Amino acid sequence: MNAIEIRDLSVYYRTPLGKVKVLDSLDADFPESKTTGIVGESGSGKSTLGFAITRLLPPTSIVQGSIKYYGDDLMKLPSKKMREVRGTGVFMIMQDPFSRLNPVKRVGDQLLEALQVRYERRGEAFDFAAARKEVLKRLSDVKLPDPDLVMSKYPYQLSGGQIQRVVIAMGLLLEPKVIIADEPTSALDVSIQAQVIALLRELQESYGMTLLFITHDLAVATAVSDNVIILYAGRIMEQGDMADAVKKPLHPYTQGLLKSFPSGNYKEGKLFSLKGLPPSFFDLPSGCRFSDRCPYAFDRCYKEEPQVYQVEDRKVRCFLYDKR
Ligand code: ADP
Ligand code: MG
Repeated sequence: MNAIEIRDLSVYYRTPLGKVKVLDSLDADFPESKTTGIVGESGSGKSTLGFAITRLLPPTSIVQGSIKYYGDDLMKLPSKKMREVRGTGVFMIMQDPFSRLNPVKRVGDQLLEALQVRYERRGEAFDFAAARKEVLKRLSDVKLPDPDLVMSKYPYQLSGGQIQRVVIAMGLLLEPKVIIADEPTSALDVSIQAQVIALLRELQESYGMTLLFITHDLAVATAVSDNVIILYAGRIMEQGDMADAVKKPLHPYTQGLLKSFPSGNYKEGKLFSLKGLPPSFFDLPSGCRFSDRCPYAFDRCYKEEPQVYQVEDRKVRCFLYDKR
């Protein structure tokens, strides 16, 4: 069963230089209770995908295609219903955890309010004592020492790592089916990153959540993900099982990303360093978007954009896999 199914999703932003298409005809399934890593360099469209799913894109953007959440087309949902989905169905942890919290309210009050939302949506009466107990439990679930003390603090009195844990606790209190974690550790110290990632994985497993884990770092994604989606300049270049993709990356871009992989699992000798930068959305190549950085590019790659080829269980957008 898929928690989320995306079909032919395109997103355009309006900019002073004109309309720009930053996600181009995405097809993706996010299976229930699994973690899917969404990986790509900065600017590839990862956050845009998260915002499209939660309908938090700027109002001037244009979205085409369909995003189904357990069969409901989110793009057709009335705003009121969408707000419900956003609270208790799909919860997004943003890159900047502080943006999620109100700076002038105590952390504990904000967590109690989140819980109140859940009570209301389920038509349950709000029981303060039970709610407080649940908040304390969640704060200890996310491994914050002294939950009582944390509840009494204002966001600015906590560190970035603590705040990101508070946001994760808030997500848990809402009991969403899906959590989208958008580079949840990029604002944190390296020493805390691994802990937060391990925590997300642990929570995903114990609560059976569906996790969409967005990162620019394939090594980090590997540690938590069952499946992977490789995004490049608004296109999905490869998708499938994460372990398979690491063992035998098909797309040259995936191979390039793996080059910087510390564990050195990939030993086929064909590794190359990724040089250069992704193309500008205002000036996309007419062929494959990766062609000017690809060591295997041939004539056709500069002229035509490859379609998606199915290779065993994997999907890959590259002419190297055209059997004709
Ligand atoms: P990522 O999260 O992978 O770094 P984003 O989804 O944030 O990528 O951005 C994808 C592209 O869309 C980038 O080129 C970015 O500059 C552009 N972009 C993002 N948000 C907006 C916006 N509100 N208006 C115009 N362009 C945007
Ligand atoms: Mg981003």
